[in-house]
Amino acid sequence: MELTILGSGGATTIPRPGCNCRICTEARIKGIPYTRSGPSMFIKEGSVLFDTPEEIAGQLNRERIEAIDYIFYTHWHPDHTFGMRIAERMYKFWLDIGVRGNKPKNKVRVCAIREVMEDLRSMGSRRGPFFTYYERSDLIEPVELEDEEEFEIGRLSVTPFKVRTTYCSSTIFLIQEKSKRVVYAPCDVKPFSESSQLKSLDLLIIGSFHLEGPLKEGIVIPPENALRSELFSPTEIKELATRLKAKKTIVTHIEEEWGKSYDEYRNLEEPNLLYAYDGMRMRI
Ligand SMILES: [Zn+2]
Ligand SMILES: [Zn+2]
Repeated sequence: MELTILGSGGATTIPRPGCNCRICTEARIKGIPYTRSGPSMFIKEGSVLFDTPEEIAGQLNRERIEAIDYIFYTHWHPDHTFGMRIAERMYKFWLDIGVRGNKPKNKVRVCAIREVMEDLRSMGSRRGPFFTYYERSDLIEPVELEDEEEFEIGRLSVTPFKVRTTYCSSTIFLIQEKSKRVVYAPCDVKPFSESSQLKSLDLLIIGSFHLEGPLKEGIVIPPENALRSELFSPTEIKELATRLKAKKTIVTHIEEEWGKSYDEYRNLEEPNLLYAYDGMRMRI
């Protein structure tokens, strides 16, 4: 399968508007891969998208991705969902619908576990959920996934694993094609699922991480700080990769405040531990 990291940034992207730190300044001058947009991944087989950050339309244009048939949502947080209009932006043609009387060109299946779907359905206006508006417009079809049950898309299968953190319900996705096994777990995945199904991976794509300090403005995260219970340290990422028997690990959802440039992440890399960048493509 062919995977593309559309956005390798986290809740804070690079360059951050109004920020003149050295990371954001360099990113403004050099562009990709020094810039990092919101967290999203695309799989060519089945035209499958994972999450829709605000920048999703630009990401799809940049990578020349011309169709989306499925969107899998990890959780409701704004950095993962505020581009949910993408089905409308791609497939709603006002004249074709209003003048010719046709339906939208495509209906995107929007998939999430029950708890996440409930969160997504609570996003809207006083007139109702955004999802209901898009369903009535024939632009999306919500699909509720069963926890730990395979959902098949041709030769591909996607299995969700629920994660309940203090703040929200999130999802780890296991993606399989024939014997190939990839896990996408970009955000709010600590504590990580103990499921025996999540073992022996060809690729682990993991977020929810922090670097050890000094970070932006010289800040160091103290040993007992609450951030450490939310995020994996570099040591914990390596331990997790070993426990899951992952052949290769890619760290994504990289925050601006970790204060490192693209070149510095390259220097931190090890043969089986890489750092994502926008437009990173892998064939598994
Ligand atoms: Zn900055
Ligand atoms: Zn996030």
